[in-house]
Amino acid sequence: MFSGTAHSAYDEALNYARERIQGGRPIIEHQNIKLKLFDMFTAVEAARSLSRRVWLYNASQRAAMQPPALEYSIASKVLGTETAFRVASQAVQIFGGNGLTKEYVIEKIFRDARAAMIEDGVNETLALLGATRL
Ligand SMILES: Cc1cc2nc3c(=O)[nH]c(=O)nc-3n(C[C@H](O)[C@H](O)[C@H](O)COP(=O)(O)OP(=O)(O)OC[C@H]3O[C@@H](n4cnc5c(N)ncnc54)[C@H](O)[C@@H]3O)c2cc1C
Repeated sequence: MFSGTAHSAYDEALNYARERIQGGRPIIEHQNIKLKLFDMFTAVEAARSLSRRVWLYNASQRAAMQPPALEYSIASKVLGTETAFRVASQAVQIFGGNGLTKEYVIEKIFRDARAAMIEDGVNETLALLGATRL
C-alpha cells in the first residue's frame, strides 16, 4: 500500500513538473528537478521490489505450511512507509507553495505518508520487534 503511496507521489510530481513553467521552461527541464525525480523513481522501485519479494517469499512459506518471516515483512513496512514519506516530501518541494494547498492531491498524499509511519505499528516499535528476530 505505501510503496503505492510513494509511487503516486512520484507520478503527481512528474506530471506537475512537465506542466509547471518557471524560468521560461517546464521545471522538469531544470537540472535540480531532474535529479530529484530520478532519486524518487529509484526509491520507489527499491521499496516496490522489497515488498513484492517479501510477499512472494511469505506466500511460498504459507504454501509450505511454514510461518511467515515476520522480520522481512517489518523491513518492507518500514522501508515502504519511510520511502513514501521521503518521496512525498520531495514531491511537495517540486510543487512549491501549491503542494501545501488542498487544490492538489499531493497535500493529502503527504499527510497519508506521514501517518503511515505511525499506523499499523509505530516504525520504531516494529523495528525493535524485527531486531529480536535477527
Ligand atoms: C492514520 C492512523 C490509522 C490508524 N488505524 C488504526 C486501526 O485501524 N486500528 C487500530 O487499532 N489502531 C489504529 N491506529 C492507531 C495506531 O496503531 C497507534 O497510533 C500506534 O500503534 C501508536 O500508538 P500511540 O498513538 O498510542 O503512540 P504511543 O504508543 O504513545 O507512542 C508514541 C511514541 O512513543 C514511542 N514509544 C512508545 N512506546 C515505547 C517504548 N516502550 N519504548 C520506546 N519508545 C516507545 C513510539 O515509538 C512513538 O514514537 C491508527 C493510527 C493512525 C495514525
